[in-house]
Amino acid sequence: MEKLLMIKYGELTTKKANRNTFIKILTKNIERVLKDYPVTIKKDRVRMYITCQDEQPVIKALQKIFGLHSIVLCEKVNTNIEDISKKAIELVKNFKTFKIETKRSLKTFPMTSMEISKKVGANVLKNTDLKVDVHNPEITVHVEIRSEGSFIYIDEKKGIGGYPVGIQGKGLLMLSGGIDSPVAGYLALKRGVDLECIYFESPPHTSIEAKNKVLKLAKIINEYSGNIKVHVVPFTKLQEEIYKKVPHTYMITIMRRMMYRIALKVCLKNKLKVIVNGESIGQVASQTLDSMSVINNVVDIPVIRPVACMDKLEIIDLANKIGTYETSILPYEDCCTIFVPKHPIIHPSLKQCIEFEKNFDFEKLVDEAVDNIETISSFKEEEYKDYL
Ligand code: ATP
Ligand code: MG
Repeated sequence: MEKLLMIKYGELTTKKANRNTFIKILTKNIERVLKDYPVTIKKDRVRMYITCQDEQPVIKALQKIFGLHSIVLCEKVNTNIEDISKKAIELVKNFKTFKIETKRSLKTFPMTSMEISKKVGANVLKNTDLKVDVHNPEITVHVEIRSEGSFIYIDEKKGIGGYPVGIQGKGLLMLSGGIDSPVAGYLALKRGVDLECIYFESPPHTSIEAKNKVLKLAKIINEYSGNIKVHVVPFTKLQEEIYKKVPHTYMITIMRRMMYRIALKVCLKNKLKVIVNGESIGQVASQTLDSMSVINNVVDIPVIRPVACMDKLEIIDLANKIGTYETSILPYEDCCTIFVPKHPIIHPSLKQCIEFEKNFDFEKLVDEAVDNIETISSFKEEEYKDYL
């Protein structure tokens, strides 16, 4: 039997001016996750309707789409009290207490929402043993009177909210194998910023497993996007030069300035509007406000740090919720952890950084790294099995 799902757009409904773009991008994103299911999609300015055969996998897929407030499995009937009451009676039959809640968008319908609820409620009482409980009912029957028919439902599944991915264009996520950056990516996607990722690797100091772990994380967050690519930057030469030419207290600060410089070039080349990363205020020496400002100084596009103000435990909670935590805690070193000095500077000076950077021809090395980027744009196991 064919099932009908009604989608409520949530936050988009408040953005009147942009509504058409919102709905267009949302539809495209929904079509992507439902491409393997036999569904039909219809939409108007406030609701989307999806007909499908088996609603469970479809709901599950929709729960990875940002921009959805909720998904309801509903029944469509003709707009008259008899048909609505008949369906309501069918839906409540296994419960003891109920209430009816009506929303009337079709203003030409001659009864108010309150009158409809009362009348349908009276019909349910007449035909069943149920009782009305307006404060704490076991079941609430929702009735929506719309121009295309009346929709009745009892079960509303929450969507994940946010804005449709892509509505804000694209950013570049600095994706390490840690816990924070995949969560930062998820939060940026939630605000509608689609992503490409950049990962700095330093073989042989970092292993193929470390790279594979980053690809796995990219694959997980790609479920919310579908468009994610990973730019893998060969970072060994820069890292070794920094190790040789820069006082060790400043090594991380300078290394991160190099990462940002490379990230900026990748953004400009690929029309990406912002850098996104997993920095969190105070977490490590390179994430004090002084460090952040000295590091940020080398780029002139916005840097978004979605987890900047979150506690580590809050970040871990979210990592668990989105399914990245288990992969993030796999024990592979990444390039930062190998070249960590004993006493990294906590309050670096910009002047000093500029001085130390004169010790080697970093611009040449930055360009060379950018020229040798390997871009991975598919996460199908068979296409990245070389890294396993
Ligand atoms: P995470 O912060 O994701 O748990 P981490 O603790 O290894 O990983 P930090 O040293 O805290 O990373 O670095 C802060 C941020 O810088 C990361 O969240 C990530 O956005 C970026 N970053 C660090 N190392 C790399 C790398 N090798 N490739 C890409 N981005 C990186
Ligand atoms: Mg971190």
